[in-house]
Amino acid sequence: MRLLLNAAGVKDHQLYVIPKDYKIKTLADAFDWLHNIYLSYEYSRVCLIWESIPPEVWENYKIFEVTDLTEQRLLIIASKELIKLWKNKRPRLFINRQVEICNTCEEKVTFTYKDNYKKCGHCGEINEQNTDS
Ligand SMILES: [Zn+2]
Repeated sequence: MRLLLNAAGVKDHQLYVIPKDYKIKTLADAFDWLHNIYLSYEYSRVCLIWESIPPEVWENYKIFEVTDLTEQRLLIIASKELIKLWKNKRPRLFINRQVEICNTCEEKVTFTYKDNYKKCGHCGEINEQNTDS
């Protein structure tokens, strides 16, 4: 699901969940929300278009800067619809920015979380992520 949401233009940091203790209700609500997207017409359209072409061909389009093929235009249109859904009532769990004190610049700043690191929004310093949850 992550690959397709990414292909549709959802940013990486929104597809990563900050590891911490969440209330059961928070997790359940987030799961329901995500599941509804998974079952949506918008998501199925993006799937259909994305899967009509092998992933390496999409990759080649990017490498060779091919931008105006029918399947690409269809994907852009379908992605816009999916993104609208993605932006609608997105749980905080999928908004992975957190305000913390940076060890490098010592400012209280917004960090963007990714899979294995977090990045300071002020000095751009990449901090190793604390994985114990
Ligand atoms: Zn910093």
